[in-house]
Amino acid sequence: MQRKVRIPSNLGKKKSKKKAEKVGEIPCGIAKCNDFSDKHLGGRSLSQENAIDTWGEGAFTVRKNRVRVCKSCYKIWKKDNKDDKNPHY
Ligand SMILES: [Zn+2]
Repeated sequence: MQRKVRIPSNLGKKKSKKKAEKVGEIPCGIAKCNDFSDKHLGGRSLSQENAIDTWGEGAFTVRKNRVRVCKSCYKIWKKDNKDDKNPHY
């Protein structure tokens, strides 16, 4: 009888992708976003008011009166603020 040595295939493949690569350290402040707002990744910080305008109150995390956003969220904000048309009025 042969005795097979089983190598667990899931050993080096952990589910958590959090520390996979040099992705980022500072999570995006937008609650529904899973990106990172590190500077080298193109992240920016917005004021609370700016963030409220785009995402609404409580939809983001505030750090030292600033809201860290990732590159794509910043794009969303920028797009939102490009034209001065206010949809609320
Ligand atoms: Zn984001």
